[in-house]
Amino acid sequence: MRSCVRSSRYRQGMATKQPRIFAYVDETGDRGLSSKASPVFGMAAVMVDDDGAAELRQVVRDIRELFSVPEGTVMSWKRHVKTHDHRRLAAARLGALTNLRVMYVYCRKADLKRDAFNGDQALFYNFIALKMYKSILWAGRNWAGEGAQLWTRFGHVRRHDHEATKGYILRQVIPDPKVPHHLEKGLRWVSADRYLESQAADLYGGFLKAAIWPDGQFNLTEPAYLLSVWHQIRNSDSCAVPLGIMSSPTNVTVTNEPWFPCPGCPRKETSGSSGASKGRST
Ligand SMILES: [Zn+2]
Repeated sequence: MRSCVRSSRYRQGMATKQPRIFAYVDETGDRGLSSKASPVFGMAAVMVDDDGAAELRQVVRDIRELFSVPEGTVMSWKRHVKTHDHRRLAAARLGALTNLRVMYVYCRKADLKRDAFNGDQALFYNFIALKMYKSILWAGRNWAGEGAQLWTRFGHVRRHDHEATKGYILRQVIPDPKVPHHLEKGLRWVSADRYLESQAADLYGGFLKAAIWPDGQFNLTEPAYLLSVWHQIRNSDSCAVPLGIMSSPTNVTVTNEPWFPCPGCPRKETSGSSGASKGRST
């Protein structure tokens, strides 16, 4: 009896030592496929372990205070991070964090075929979310091994059926032996006010948006914010494409950007391939 209790405690002790990883995802742009929709749609994922989560929350609190975001209000790129100075400061503070990884998936809609996704914006969202989720699972395993425990929290999108998206994703990843879905402990869609970390994901989405979405009076992009957090993007010490940043419809959507910082990038030549399954999966 005594040994049973001891072994049970031992097992619990082992269980609590398994690394816990948390992924927070937010979108940039809208899912629309009509001419009135945003030119890009993408997602940013921020991944942290327990220590990294505490550090990230503190940085979000600090930025909120510096930007005078009222208590109870969700800080967002769109509302509170509008000026160059605000954006530089947010990128510098977040970019200084070390226990954190970032992944991006995005699509430049002008490059899609006319009948892409049959004009179905829910299917388009699902497609991007699936790519994002696979990147998260691979990053979780890469970070903490097969014993990692992962909680993935996508941002809630208004008027979107998240249960249908979850079903779509699970139907794809569960039978796929290349995708370590066993790491997942709680795939959910959450509102933006639930976790401070989701507000960080929103800002990382903003850094991407500024780099790829021509905007403002002169239709310009600004890659400086993205480049100042580039070192946090997965695999950016070798080549961030596609597991750290995946562009759609092809890898060259991102590698041909004038600011793309990967000299001699092997992905520059591989037009026609945008799937992570065609790249490395570890
Ligand atoms: Zn590269």
